[in-house]
Amino acid sequence: MNDCIFCKLVRKEIPTKVVYEDDEVFVFNDINPKAEVHLLIIPKIHIESMLHLSEHHHSLMGKIMVLTNKLALEHGLHGGYKTQINTGLKGGQEVFHLHVHLVGNR
Ligand code: 5GP
Ligand code: ZN
Repeated sequence: MNDCIFCKLVRKEIPTKVVYEDDEVFVFNDINPKAEVHLLIIPKIHIESMLHLSEHHHSLMGKIMVLTNKLALEHGLHGGYKTQINTGLKGGQEVFHLHVHLVGNR
């Protein structure tokens, strides 16, 4: 158990509308959306940030990127979208559980 807010969402300790989940990945709406679509795509395991990635995470991170595009299309972002991964204090990261921002307007 840990105090990470995103881990609490994954464990359903904090109720949230689940946009997508499988055994490895969890997706939900950003609480403070910057556009019509603003999803956060996260691994279910607690990885603090991109700074904590290793070769073990190749398939997980590849899966997250392909899923991000699939969700973008499912949410009508056929014209394109932005992704952002803030990494570390100097990268503006506020929640230290690796997450991909998927941001776009239809
Ligand atoms: P970052 O760490 O990439 O700078 O930003 C963290 C993002 O998580 C922010 O966009 C913020 O709005 C979002 N966020 C922080 N706490 C929660 C929460 O409890 N629920 C949800 N759905 N989003 C959150
Ligand atoms: Zn976590």
